[in-house]
Amino acid sequence: MIAANIHKIKQETGQNVKLIAVSKTKPLEMIMEAYRAGQRIFGENKVQEMVDKYNQLPKDIEWHLIGHLQTNKVKYIMPFVALIHSVDSLKLLDEIEKQGAKNNRVIDILLQVYIAAEETKFGLDEKELAELMNDVNSNPEKYKHVAIRGLMGMATNTDDEKQVRSEFRKLKIIFDYYKLKTSNHPAPCTDDFALLSMGMSQDYPIAVEEGSNMIRVGSIIFGDR
Ligand SMILES: *Cc1c(COP(=O)(O)O)cnc(C)c1O
Repeated sequence: MIAANIHKIKQETGQNVKLIAVSKTKPLEMIMEAYRAGQRIFGENKVQEMVDKYNQLPKDIEWHLIGHLQTNKVKYIMPFVALIHSVDSLKLLDEIEKQGAKNNRVIDILLQVYIAAEETKFGLDEKELAELMNDVNSNPEKYKHVAIRGLMGMATNTDDEKQVRSEFRKLKIIFDYYKLKTSNHPAPCTDDFALLSMGMSQDYPIAVEEGSNMIRVGSIIFGDR
């Protein structure tokens, strides 16, 4: 089942869209089933769970942190995390820079942008995003161990397709703006600003139509949580 689900999503979305298999709360055997089907990128939203799974599973898996990250937990994932999707403050970015330096790594991150109509605590609004980009770009010397690779966003949890589509479209416009603005710019915002992480089980086809190149899909691969 898991293999067939992955295959179907990949066929639908094509080669230019990276599939992050969201394995939060799911057991190791299910992850291994996906692994044997060729899946190598997995997303988790809790630090401890991701560390435990990293320790027990094959080392060629790419682990993506997709959930809210507390500053005091950054250090636990620094040795192995492949991409952090959920950076939503300068304080967190500074901690990732500090821990990245300690680990002698450049950590790839996405900035999480708040696009939904519903109330949520996480994500930067457009003004905060502009401020953060400005802070970082005016002090590139400070950020040698973090690379801002793009943006992540979540649409409102609703059946209203028009609303979801307009939220994704908005994020794509913001993404294109910063992609253009950061091209030829020194680190940490470089030509590598190329990832747009949007789309989950219920809305990834719309997200891909609106320009997503990275989808985070859990329940339709592994079943309901
Ligand atoms: C859980 C989660 C997903 C996957 O959700 P599904 O509806 O199971 O596909 C994607 N993104 C984030 C940030 C999540 O926390």
